[in-house]
Amino acid sequence: MLDNATVADLIARYNSPVPRYTSYPTALEFGPLADTALEDSYRRIEPASSVSVYVHLPFCANLCLYCGCNVLLSRKKEVLDEYIPLLLKEIDRKTALLDYRPRVSQLHFGGGTPNFLRLTDWDKIFAHLRRRFDFVADAEISAEFDPMVVEDGYLEHVRGLGMNRMSYGVQDVTPKVLEAVNRPQDVARIRDVVVESRRLGFSSVNIDLIYGLPHQTEASYQANLEFIGDIKPERIALFSFAHVPWLKHHQRRLDVQALARAEEKLRIYLGARKHFAGLGYEQIGMDHFGLKHDTLTRAFHDKTLHRNFMGYTTQKTLDMLAFGTSAIGFVSGVYMQNHVKLSGWRSAINDGRHWFEKGYIMSDEDRVRSEIITALMANFYVNFTQIENDYGVDFHEHFAPELAKLQQFADEGHGELTAEHFTVNETGGFIIRHIASVFDAYRKESEQKAFSKAI
Ligand code: SF4
Repeated sequence: MLDNATVADLIARYNSPVPRYTSYPTALEFGPLADTALEDSYRRIEPASSVSVYVHLPFCANLCLYCGCNVLLSRKKEVLDEYIPLLLKEIDRKTALLDYRPRVSQLHFGGGTPNFLRLTDWDKIFAHLRRRFDFVADAEISAEFDPMVVEDGYLEHVRGLGMNRMSYGVQDVTPKVLEAVNRPQDVARIRDVVVESRRLGFSSVNIDLIYGLPHQTEASYQANLEFIGDIKPERIALFSFAHVPWLKHHQRRLDVQALARAEEKLRIYLGARKHFAGLGYEQIGMDHFGLKHDTLTRAFHDKTLHRNFMGYTTQKTLDMLAFGTSAIGFVSGVYMQNHVKLSGWRSAINDGRHWFEKGYIMSDEDRVRSEIITALMANFYVNFTQIENDYGVDFHEHFAPELAKLQQFADEGHGELTAEHFTVNETGGFIIRHIASVFDAYRKESEQKAFSKAI
């Protein structure tokens, strides 16, 4: 276990902004993308392979002040009368580029608050997706729901449509913290929703928590830890609060003086990690925890875990077809982000052109660096021979400057470097974003403000 001196040293040296690498290159490198990229990339999908589908449902009735998502605020359900038909039309137009029904092994609904939708909206979306795609028998179908707005009968309905995994955003259960971030919640209600999810046979329940919010302390966080012990979700995501008020202006309404400082954040994180271990959870990558039998936990141990915009996954670099405002797809090595504003997205679908807000076509060099960064971020491990075999590079020659930097991390006690591999250890896990950034060819100190701090 880390001692206080080590923790203080890590904070002093590494608490600087660095990307989270949900993509490589990061979205900062995205730029204008020609419409032809859509057709070109879709046509290169291997028909026999499975794809992943992401659907963005941006509506929320209430704005949480820590929110970092692309959200459209509305209390009126009528907004869905326009959004859902547009979404179905987008799915039609894009899948019409293919002369077969793509096989889907993963479908995820993110937001926003996907359960802002009416049940009839889900009926339409699922019917449409099943017409346009061929779902494999054990497809993972998941959604991020706000547990406070799950109405009676809602879970049963979406379970009946085929959803089999659920992720609930809880973040914190302490009234003072919740009030400061404008997110009213009732713990008993959340517990009921989780119990109901289990009864209905959802195979996995994930709970999101955040540390670093206003008024959170090591002591206050005990309530969250007890709550986890009480409901025992299959997975826990413990996210460090990304305080980026220059990007998300509503975060300016947070009381900066009340925000947990770096030292307190690390104490909260360490306490949570210890508590979760005591409950039988194992750490997965940077910020997730899973029970021993969980597929992600097993993949982390086997060093076969992967990562994409939706988070950790056991399925390697599937093409991801994305629909909805701001959704980012990744198809045949091309990142494509839909328009963030409803007006731009609407025009793109209706006109069948100017599809993207921005995007990026990966080079061969980007692909190999992306593979290494993903391996480090997901498995805390990179095998040089495997990279050489997969990408035809001489690792030691091609990445000589990067290996010198890895040697520095090893010398500082953050991992083990051999001729064959680099393995990140416990302290290295805290600064994994810094270690992965060694392979980021685009990283410039001047762009640091675009990212949240590492700790
Ligand atoms: S519910 Fe989620 S997406 Fe909506 S405002 Fe709150 S944090 Fe953002």
